[in-house]
Amino acid sequence: MNTQDRLGILYLVSGPSGSGKTTMCRRAADTGLAKYAVSATTRAPREGEIDGTSYHFLTVEDFKQKIAEGEFIEYAEVHGNYYGTLKSEVVSRLQEGVDIVMDIDVQGAAIIREIQDELLQTCLVDLFVMPPSEEELESRLRNRCTDSEEVITLRLQNSIEEMARWQEYTYLLLSGDKETDFNTFQNILFTERLKVRRLR
Ligand code: 5GP
Repeated sequence: MNTQDRLGILYLVSGPSGSGKTTMCRRAADTGLAKYAVSATTRAPREGEIDGTSYHFLTVEDFKQKIAEGEFIEYAEVHGNYYGTLKSEVVSRLQEGVDIVMDIDVQGAAIIREIQDELLQTCLVDLFVMPPSEEELESRLRNRCTDSEEVITLRLQNSIEEMARWQEYTYLLLSGDKETDFNTFQNILFTERLKVRRLR
């Protein structure tokens, strides 16, 4: 079936920092499985991150202006910075039958689930990626070598609260090795493509 015959999937992927969700979403985009919805954030770019590709990096002032202008589907404060999903990254693509993967925190996912919008609700699929253990999560965060000790500590604290909310999701992926995780992630996407409710 070509993409004209159904609505796209809005695949929300959450999990604590270091769970591997971003890698999975990026790989889905790199292999052409889905488009990655580039979020806006007020966080400073990490080394190697590119504006417009990794995130739309905004000042707090610009971010607040976009909130006032109604440009976001959702936004939330995460680890002390704003993050938000722009309508322009999502709505027309879903209507065109393009599948979208979104890296989003538990607050943002909860907001999207509550939005009374037929398109979003028809397209929505949500997955929580659970790291194998707290020790493994900490070691992944440290091995990344991109964040300061202060940031790592904050992210580890926040991860406990995030992980407690896994039951809000339809799918739970217990993270193991990258290949297995990606296969599971992909299988969910393939199965969701068969859902009758999105066919036209
Ligand atoms: P990081 O700073 O590690 O790139 O992302 C921090 C957190 O922000 C992650 O949990 C990620 O899922 C979340 N995040 C990224 N983009 C968005 C977004 O558009 N909206 C919300 N609510 N959270 C996001």
